[in-house]
Amino acid sequence: MAPKDVTNHPMIARLVQAVGADQVLTSADDRVFYSHDVYRQIATPIAVVRPGSVDELARVVGMATAEGIAIVPRGGGASYSDGYCATVEDSISIDTTRLNKIDLNARDMTVTVECGVTWAELYETLGKQGLRTPFWGPFSGLKATVGGSMSQGSVSLGSGLHGPSADSVLAMEIVLADGSILKTGSLAAANGQPHFRHYGPDLSALFTGDTGAMGVKARITLRLMKKLPVAMSASFGFANFEGMAGGMESAAKEGAVSDNFGLNPRLQKAWLGRTNMKQSMDAAIAVYKTARNPVDGLFKLIRMAVAGKRFLDRSEYSAHFIVEGVDHAHARSLLAAVRKAVEPFGVEVPNTIPTVVRSMPFMPLYPIMGPAGERWVPLHGILAFSQVKSFHDKLQAMHTRYAAEMEKLKVTTAAMFTTIGTTGFLYEPVFYWQDTRHLYHERYLPEEFLAMLPKYPENPEARKLVEEMRTGIREIFASCGAVHLQVGKSYPYMKGRDPRNAQMLTAIKALLDPKRLMNPGSLGL
Ligand SMILES: Cc1cc2nc3c(=O)[nH]c(=O)nc-3n(C[C@H](O)[C@H](O)[C@H](O)COP(=O)(O)OP(=O)(O)OC[C@H]3O[C@@H](n4cnc5c(N)ncnc54)[C@H](O)[C@@H]3O)c2cc1C
Repeated sequence: MAPKDVTNHPMIARLVQAVGADQVLTSADDRVFYSHDVYRQIATPIAVVRPGSVDELARVVGMATAEGIAIVPRGGGASYSDGYCATVEDSISIDTTRLNKIDLNARDMTVTVECGVTWAELYETLGKQGLRTPFWGPFSGLKATVGGSMSQGSVSLGSGLHGPSADSVLAMEIVLADGSILKTGSLAAANGQPHFRHYGPDLSALFTGDTGAMGVKARITLRLMKKLPVAMSASFGFANFEGMAGGMESAAKEGAVSDNFGLNPRLQKAWLGRTNMKQSMDAAIAVYKTARNPVDGLFKLIRMAVAGKRFLDRSEYSAHFIVEGVDHAHARSLLAAVRKAVEPFGVEVPNTIPTVVRSMPFMPLYPIMGPAGERWVPLHGILAFSQVKSFHDKLQAMHTRYAAEMEKLKVTTAAMFTTIGTTGFLYEPVFYWQDTRHLYHERYLPEEFLAMLPKYPENPEARKLVEEMRTGIREIFASCGAVHLQVGKSYPYMKGRDPRNAQMLTAIKALLDPKRLMNPGSLGL
């Protein structure tokens, strides 16, 4: 159904007055694009508003909710669990990407960013001073914002040692539903400086992972550390999933790995695996073109792609570990500990993949389509190590049940894995199927890239199967006590929750957002 005409909606003129006509987008395409994640859209908001300051943000939120209009924040738009998909038409999508100030306080080892700063921008700015945040971003950090990641939880770069995004937060300023601003952490104390998170009850935690249900993060202060100058990596191949999971668990427990990821055979091949020489070069050039790599980076990438290919082809699963040290001896000793931990489970192979990842940690969003232009959607759960095998076995049994139907409808899967700190194993199944592209793909992927890929007609049957299997996988995750980042509106957060806990969350939501206008549907609240 075409989005309704909003030209005469009384809210539009008021929004224009608040932020200027250029920053209120009302075309059907813009309203659909900003409310459509890589997977789907639910409802089309009346407008997209792009505030240019925290004051404007607060004014827009207060003004909209006073009129019963819902607020749906959107950062880089790189999540895929309905988080920024509007659920009601009487809503506005808030694009935070103009809120991009970075305020570094090297003396206090803090950095305060506006919510729309991307992880790539932040990493680059801090790197010039030899600094970084402990968690320093998801792989999608060219687009993904600090506000988006803090609102739903993110892992990857640095989370092997420093945990998820929330663990790097010191203080925040949150725009509440009525347009007022709440300070958290030490910032809220008399003469507060944003240098310490815990001073009495931790109010920051109410908002990290709220997916915008409790308020809109305006400013976020993160702690800093010195950027460690030496990074080294090692890669291992494993005969099967059990070997890889065992190796990753064993390495995680050493407390030495900064970044790590495991790949199932299909993804391993996709990541520089079964490619011929030309494809290796094309991939490297594509990577290079979109990167800020030094000139010789290209040749290095090609050499690594070709060298790694022979070895990696032989392994079924692979896992990749990056350690960081104050000097070579430090990094080498950490890597030695990782090798000792993983060697009983697999064989070491060339470290092609982690070297490429380290040379360009923030990837362009190419993976939002499959290698043959298929649609793509992942889901994930974080499991205790003791539950990993049980989850994997149940997932395999499910795949066996659906095998014939998947083959008929050409639905395929892959999987990626990572450990978080010394306690979490993230299992990320991914689906691919042939279906129509959306405005989302067209705006986020370069035209030349899309031109190389085939197009497919609408495929409601495959889409239905993917959704059915995603529901099944969420149930398997729940049966194994998994938790989720980017809960959005997709994971059953409130279902089966401890009753006292659920009651408390509902009461807090009612206190902060009595009209239930802050990202309705998020967290199932
Ligand atoms: C190719 C690719 C690679 C990825 N790699 C990783 C990875 O390595 N690790 C990982 O964890 N995830 C990864 N992701 C998922 C996603 O990119 C991250 O979770 C990222 O943190 C999303 O940030 P964003 O700014 O795009 O948030 P968005 O998708 O814009 O929003 C996420 C949620 O936060 C809310 N929100 C946004 N800004 C605010 C705000 N200021 N205040 C309140 N609520 C807000 C939105 O309403 C939504 O619910 C990847 C995605 C892709 C496509």
